[in-house]
Amino acid sequence: MPVIKNVLIWDAGRRDAQYGDIVTGESGRINAITPPGAGRGDVLFDGAGRCMALPGLVNAHTHVSMTLLRGLAEELPLMEWLHQRIFPAEDKLTPANIRTGADLAMLEMISGGVTCFCDMYYFMNEVADSLLDAGVRGALCRGLMGEDEKRIYENLALAEEYNGRDGRVTVQLGPHAPYTVPREAVRKIAALAKERNLGVHFHWLETKGELDTFRNEYKIEPADYLESAGLLEVRELILAHSVWFPTEQLARVARDNVTLVHNPKSNLKLGSGYAPIKEFLESGVRVALGTDGAASNNRLDIWDEMRTAALMHKGYNLDPTVAGAREVLKMATVNGARGLGFKDVGLIQPDYMADVIVIDMDNPRYVGCDETNAPEFAVYAGSSRDVRAAFVAGKPLYRDGEYLTLDKDAILSRARADRLALVRN
Ligand SMILES: [Zn+2]
Repeated sequence: MPVIKNVLIWDAGRRDAQYGDIVTGESGRINAITPPGAGRGDVLFDGAGRCMALPGLVNAHTHVSMTLLRGLAEELPLMEWLHQRIFPAEDKLTPANIRTGADLAMLEMISGGVTCFCDMYYFMNEVADSLLDAGVRGALCRGLMGEDEKRIYENLALAEEYNGRDGRVTVQLGPHAPYTVPREAVRKIAALAKERNLGVHFHWLETKGELDTFRNEYKIEPADYLESAGLLEVRELILAHSVWFPTEQLARVARDNVTLVHNPKSNLKLGSGYAPIKEFLESGVRVALGTDGAASNNRLDIWDEMRTAALMHKGYNLDPTVAGAREVLKMATVNGARGLGFKDVGLIQPDYMADVIVIDMDNPRYVGCDETNAPEFAVYAGSSRDVRAAFVAGKPLYRDGEYLTLDKDAILSRARADRLALVRN
């Protein structure tokens, strides 16, 4: 059986890390964790005692094909960013562009240890095919706007075709945001999700203006809106951003089927604010981490998000205990996986899927890293540059700079050509 040998293993299910071998089975699940050197079988990777193994990172809110729009809209507030730059550029994107942008994102995410992502966009069958070919895992939805029945039909068709595919895809319905989808339409989408046993992925209270609109125009508090729309009853509810979620209402979403996705860098860059992570954690809601799209970040790098989250809330709260390394690594792994509907992903334990990344500790920033402090080294000293290998369901996707499922040069040249055509037209 395939083995990842002699690595320092940490996941959110354990306090101390431990040296060992990760033995995987034919089903793509972890069979056993043995003492170092005791795992028998084909060697997938030999860490030689100088590598750390973590669960594959989860990017719980993004728009992967926006890698083609990176740098097109800089230093603008959200509504100008959307209406003046992003929506007009998106009008020009073809299905082939969507595929190229997704493939480009796969290169960036896999080499940075991201093995699972959650995406909202359009021509989503292109994103699904990119995901399946790359070998990663993901939760996908078609972004829905207004009361457009055609888009809802496309989202349902996506679910028919891809939901559950190869155990690597979940499909949600994707109402874009309360300010782009009327309340009655959101209610219908939630009812449809419940009827079809699908989740919902929603942009939620990203800016202060959205909270003001709830109170001044809709005349309803956000938690009441979620409840009255039926959104709390769907298979999984993924609320991206939640920066302005009134903290006294958080207890209403502390449920196993609800996940708030913190996108610290995108929120900072667009000047949207700070999500109240201290209060999120105190209220018991599940929190995951996302990058948002590459046009507002501009990286799809979860290491960056972990580090930013772990630092900014300490400064904001004047409290160095808020958003500890272990907490943010949990957000970036098992919390993201559960939130996206993958119940057996995100821990390095027997019977979990073998979605594992290997980190190089043979580097100056890891001297002193041991069983007691591995998560702190990873979050405060680590970086995406340290990723040496990535596996999904035990299958190697990336090893020592080589992509095993993707043709890097071909994707880069296609992406350069698509981008050039996009800005010239
Ligand atoms: Zn977004």
